[in-house]
Amino acid sequence: MSINGLEKTKTFSFDRSHSAKVLFKRPDKFREIEDLSKHNRTLINTGSNLSYSPLGFYKNSISVKLKKFNRIIDFNLKKKEITVESGITLSQLLNFTLLYDLWIPQIPGYPFITIGGAIASDAHGKSCALHGTIKNSIKEMTIFHIKNGWLSLSEKENKEIYNLTIGGIGLTGTIVNVTLKLEEFKNKNFITYKTKVNSVNECISEITKKSKEKDSFVYSWNMAENLKSLGKGFVFQNKINNGNVENFKFIPEEKKNKFLPFLPIWNKLTLKTANWIFYYLNNSSNHFREDDFTSVIFPFYGKEAYFKFFGKKGFYESQLLISENTIEDFFDEFKFIYKKFNPTISLFSVKNMRGTQEFLRFEDNKICVTFDFINNKKNILFMSELDKICVKLKIIPSIIKDSRLSKKIVEQCYPEYSRFRDLINNYDKKRIYKSEISQRLEI
Ligand SMILES: Cc1cc2nc3c(=O)[nH]c(=O)nc-3n(C[C@H](O)[C@H](O)[C@H](O)COP(=O)(O)OP(=O)(O)OC[C@H]3O[C@@H](n4cnc5c(N)ncnc54)[C@H](O)[C@@H]3O)c2cc1C
Repeated sequence: MSINGLEKTKTFSFDRSHSAKVLFKRPDKFREIEDLSKHNRTLINTGSNLSYSPLGFYKNSISVKLKKFNRIIDFNLKKKEITVESGITLSQLLNFTLLYDLWIPQIPGYPFITIGGAIASDAHGKSCALHGTIKNSIKEMTIFHIKNGWLSLSEKENKEIYNLTIGGIGLTGTIVNVTLKLEEFKNKNFITYKTKVNSVNECISEITKKSKEKDSFVYSWNMAENLKSLGKGFVFQNKINNGNVENFKFIPEEKKNKFLPFLPIWNKLTLKTANWIFYYLNNSSNHFREDDFTSVIFPFYGKEAYFKFFGKKGFYESQLLISENTIEDFFDEFKFIYKKFNPTISLFSVKNMRGTQEFLRFEDNKICVTFDFINNKKNILFMSELDKICVKLKIIPSIIKDSRLSKKIVEQCYPEYSRFRDLINNYDKKRIYKSEISQRLEI
């Protein structure tokens, strides 16, 4: 349905836990972004709406969808810089820069995420132990705010708003274009090595050791179907294949929604079967293999069925940043609540992260642990207990990934929650930019 150039569409968060009938505006001219003030409503920006949490929509806001702002504006090979519009997807960006052996190394795991969405969530990629988050690749940005107008942002200009915008979940206005600092990336194929681990402790020490090696991306896949096998699995290490100079294969272009839910296939039994098959296949194959760029950098591309098999009710993800000093205590407490609730966990993975925690950004020099859960009552209770552990052990839970988090938990886990809220309220006095999450977190 289209009213005054606005389309009303039922929209879901990626984890399907939240939905709303949302008014979308898809501007393709600067004037159309400026004219949004005519509607006299609150706004929120949207890229590809691939966030697990409802960050890009709210029932009372117009979602400003930037997908038509996807042009390359400037490219300077000598300076290794590119200026792009924020609706460009990662695949569109990389299909261009990789022709010149350049990229940004902080690439979140799905090719159709937009640069604007990645910046507003301060996304990280496979190599986050080495390269941190996308913040490290930004040189400058131009944003438009309905009340504050056009602003150029960088470390030198409007520094405070610049900092608030990176990981600012779309609340400082619309990022219209951005200049990125590119890095050299010659050989675009990888060799993936795997090491079998039998416990959580073994996994963490292996990851810590391997993450120190040059040019390698390290992460794990672990079992979590019962306490006995918790942590059993493999540590994978992607290393750039210097021997292989095969031409780069283009990353496929975006097709229609590949995530439409299927029948709910996942349950304790099917997950146990799928996990053991995966385990035995890995256990019986070579300890290394050659991998291409797309399968390493975009691990979920082509594996969308994993998400579809949660069915219409979807799933929840908990992604946590835990310090090395408290990781053992965390898993002790985790096992204790596991015994009580026997949750159904579909994914358990560990990697290292590098960065400095500020505002609501999910970055720190910590261990990043991820769990996916089927959406059911028992798991939601289990996750509430996890929240308490986070508060107790000063763990940072991801707002981008966990769509359930309450204001109370975020306030207690993020030391800079109040500072972020106050600065946003000071900058946007009428609080024009509002999402489902900003409302829940009372920002
Ligand atoms: C399969 C899959 C794998 C993923 N892997 C990773 C990963 O490895 N690492 C990681 O960090 N994340 C990962 N993510 C999460 C993803 O990077 C973020 O949720 C990202 O924000 C999604 O981008 P999007 O274009 O869909 O933005 P949306 O979901 O549409 O929006 C996300 C946020 O960005 C804001 N925003 C969007 N565009 C603009 C703009 N132009 N100006 C201002 N604000 C804007 C929105 O208001 C919202 O707050 C993954 C997501 C999926 C679905």
